[in-house]
Amino acid sequence: MALTVASSLSVEAVDWSQLNTILLDMDGTLLDLEFDNHFWGTVIPGEWGRQRGLDVQTSQETLAPVFAGERGKLNWYCLDFWGETLELDIPAIKAHYAEGIRWRPQAETFLRHLQASHLDVVLITNAHPLTLKMKAERLPLGQWFDVMISSHDYGAPKETPTFWRSLIQNRPFDPDRTLFVDDSEYVLDSAQEFGVAHLITLRQPDSTLPPRVDTRFPAIHHFEEILSGLPNID
Ligand SMILES: [Mg+2]
Repeated sequence: MALTVASSLSVEAVDWSQLNTILLDMDGTLLDLEFDNHFWGTVIPGEWGRQRGLDVQTSQETLAPVFAGERGKLNWYCLDFWGETLELDIPAIKAHYAEGIRWRPQAETFLRHLQASHLDVVLITNAHPLTLKMKAERLPLGQWFDVMISSHDYGAPKETPTFWRSLIQNRPFDPDRTLFVDDSEYVLDSAQEFGVAHLITLRQPDSTLPPRVDTRFPAIHHFEEILSGLPNID
């Protein structure tokens, strides 16, 4: 058992010696989801409305059902889809706001410890490859991972069995000896169904929203809670 879980679904410890692979989500796990929530919740409706003479609130109300209809599907994460649907140059707008892309607290420190470890460190994200590229350049991200994978490469989001079958073929891992950290419990459901044994979620994916108290999976607030047992770094 690599995870020791307290009754409140907090994580007490991770036995890293029992693990070979760590799969890490990007947005809301390593990076502050505030950027994405603000971008899709305010910036994009604002731009869309400005071209149509609508205020932000009217635009948000008009677009809410359009967004809701794609939630959990690959389209939800697809810049091309939204660019066509909303008739906006999403990558250009996103580039304009790129300075809002930020690490979550302690995420970089956690990655430095992981890099010094025996683990295969794999980023798996539903973000569009253009978004991944932009964020990887901005921070930069690539130095910390053995490989970075966008689910768009498999044509299926992490919420689907197809994603997991593609991943294990593309980057073999032992599900019993793998830890997956993701702020989305729907994604964790899918990983669990596939057989990934060790799953952790995040209490506060968006730093501007209150921490989540009730989670269905063991949850951490900050990565320092699971650093014990990883190699020391300078
Ligand atoms: Mg996420």
